[in-house]
Amino acid sequence: MSIISDSLKRIKPSPTIAVTQKARELRAAGKDVIGLGAGEPDFDTPDNIKDAAIKAIKDGETKYTAVDGTPELKKAIVEKFKRENNLDYSTDQITVGTGGKQVLYNAFMATLNKGDEVIIPAPFWVSYPDMVLLAGGKPKIVKCDEKDGFKLTAKKLKKAISKKTKWLILNSPSNPTGAGYSKGEIEDLAKVLVKSKKVHILSDDIYEHIKYDHFNFFTIAQVSELKDRTLTMNGVSKSYAMTGWRIGYAAGSKDIIKAIGKIQSQSTSNPSSVSQAAAVEALNGTQDFIDERSNAFKERRDFVVKSLNNIKGISCLKPNGAFYVFPSCKKLLGKKNKLKTDTDFVEKLLEKANVAVVQGSAFGLDGYFRISYATSMEKLKVAMDRIKSFCESLS
Ligand code: PLP
Repeated sequence: MSIISDSLKRIKPSPTIAVTQKARELRAAGKDVIGLGAGEPDFDTPDNIKDAAIKAIKDGETKYTAVDGTPELKKAIVEKFKRENNLDYSTDQITVGTGGKQVLYNAFMATLNKGDEVIIPAPFWVSYPDMVLLAGGKPKIVKCDEKDGFKLTAKKLKKAISKKTKWLILNSPSNPTGAGYSKGEIEDLAKVLVKSKKVHILSDDIYEHIKYDHFNFFTIAQVSELKDRTLTMNGVSKSYAMTGWRIGYAAGSKDIIKAIGKIQSQSTSNPSSVSQAAAVEALNGTQDFIDERSNAFKERRDFVVKSLNNIKGISCLKPNGAFYVFPSCKKLLGKKNKLKTDTDFVEKLLEKANVAVVQGSAFGLDGYFRISYATSMEKLKVAMDRIKSFCESLS
């Protein structure tokens, strides 16, 4: 009999981490691989944030803290929601975890019963379905079309809601497509959700600050009828280049927040005390570098989208957020090229052209691939040349 639990057998390791690992191995074997698979900014954490962490260490903030966040950090989060999203929360409506990932995981563990459905628009962030499965729930994947900008429409949402629906996950701007939902698009979905009366919404806003072309970020808790049913997750990983510090947070109804804290109290306890002190500075300190970095990302996005659309057989939408693009490689698949699937495409691209990207099917939509452009322009230029030569060699 296997020692491994049945719940673990339901899930698979993260495919994005697998690609990053493969690229690392090839590099170690002497190959000049360019990795466009990783989901983290290439910038460093700003100095004022690092200094706050050093001060915390020197001041002895090195002990256990309150399980779901220090009062200082919760206060900074309450102020962030007020300042940036015009949302009012009290500190007992806030929870802090070891990355947004842990907050989401705890939320599902705290709320899902066997058979409860979670609507996940595809393409999705790879961890959503597996987290739902691990918690005993049922992912209900709803494929979103390229013609709709890979976004969920009200019509599709209405069709997907059943008696068993517990949550809808919304992620804007999105990983893997970079698509951001406009206020109007969110309000259209909200109409369906207000009518449904019971569906809860998990809004993953982790890419809130990485946006372009005057995109106005709007989060669904701002629709007042839905605020009580919405858990808004955010974090410092992407906006403040703090992926390694592991601080994420959420705001929502007191009962869910308390339940999340209960799980945390019996699993990891508080997130790192030093990282929490750093996150206070991230939220309360200068925000100037956010726009500067977004401008650098925008330049890369424009370059990558233009380069991809110049390659025969590839087409790519121009997204308004995050640091990903999700081009189609459908025209290059087929018997002629001996590439049946997007997985064949990315494997051959890595093998022949030394560029690591992630297949669309890992995100729930076949025929595409994800490029993370959170890397230097120099590397992006070489990578785009290599992708072009590879695709041309196919026809
Ligand atoms: N949500 C999305 C859409 C992500 O892409 C990520 C990280 O890649 C996370 C949540 C989790 O971020 P973290 O755990 O670093 O806060």
